[in-house]
Amino acid sequence: MSEEPQKWIELAVEAEAEAVEAITELFGRYGYNQGVVIEEPIQPGPDGGAEVNPAAPVKIRTYLPLEVATKLETTAEEDVSPEATALSQAERIQKLREGLYYLGMMRQIGPLEVSERREEDWANAWKEFYQVHRVGRRTVIKPPWQPYTPAPKDLVIEIDPGMAFGTGLHPTTRLCLTLSEDYLDPSQHKKLLDLGTGSGILAIAAAKLKVAEVIGVDTDAVAVRAAQENIERNGLKDQVIVEIGSLAVEAGSKAGSGFYSFSEQAQKPPLTLTKALPFDAIIANIIARIIVALAGSLAQALRPGGLLITSGIIAERAEEVEQALAQAGFELVERREEGDWIAFAHRQRTEPFPTA
Ligand code: SAH
Repeated sequence: MSEEPQKWIELAVEAEAEAVEAITELFGRYGYNQGVVIEEPIQPGPDGGAEVNPAAPVKIRTYLPLEVATKLETTAEEDVSPEATALSQAERIQKLREGLYYLGMMRQIGPLEVSERREEDWANAWKEFYQVHRVGRRTVIKPPWQPYTPAPKDLVIEIDPGMAFGTGLHPTTRLCLTLSEDYLDPSQHKKLLDLGTGSGILAIAAAKLKVAEVIGVDTDAVAVRAAQENIERNGLKDQVIVEIGSLAVEAGSKAGSGFYSFSEQAQKPPLTLTKALPFDAIIANIIARIIVALAGSLAQALRPGGLLITSGIIAERAEEVEQALAQAGFELVERREEGDWIAFAHRQRTEPFPTA
């Protein structure tokens, strides 16, 4: 497990809403652990909550560790080539600048702001923008430092994502939350796996939707820590367990070989997961490449008729994911999209999981 670097370079840019997907993708490709913080221009809503002002610019941030020499366990964005993995910090910033320059020809994008941050700054920088917000019909995401009086049917999830992905503001998280609301049925889905749990947001939502047993895994130790804190904060320690690891070691992964790859160790399924097999439902909000690589393992880990929710998929890669999942034996139930992001609900229809 890597030691977390203490000093960071923050890269931030303000842009019109239409440019956010493209910038998120660009920042995700070069930023640490694909960590992109999107600060939507939030204003007080009529019901005392918060709403997004679609006309105001959005701030997008990412971070690079100041000490490049620090060993990092990070994951690849969609198409990180071997040479991209070897990029130095200066080269990364340069790539980001170039990318922004081209995007800036088509969209309104402000100048790139580069500043040095200590970890605590980063952990706190976004807090003032992170407000109580509603997702889907019932889910309400609430940061611990904001008061909220729930309506009768509200499922309130208290999340402090810290440095993990999963504020509930990202379209892929929102898509997974609404699919969970619509398809998770506690009478059928008693055991659920949240693959790439980040802040634990989807695992916690599943538990609040009354799924009896939820296991979350993440290859990133920072995420695991944040998720565990959030589970405790929501009083769900008996229902949700989060551990470091993944479902399986990705086939053909360049583990250990580059800047943007997880060690094989970090991709191994923890014993808690192996013991819980097969699952009634799996949610995987990761990225297209990983979903494709793990399609077979996902099929094996689900019981026949089990539910699979996937996202983190950019539109260009959706077909590839759909094909890989179909080949693994999944039947498409629904495809949803928000902006450039796609999410799927599938049903497993292969042979029962062979009990070892
Ligand atoms: N579930 C959260 C976070 C999604 S971000 C949400 O929906 O908001 C994706 C997460 O997957 C990151 O925390 C990342 O560390 C993790 N991840 C990336 N590759 C993974 C892999 N192969 N196995 C498990 N987790 C992985």
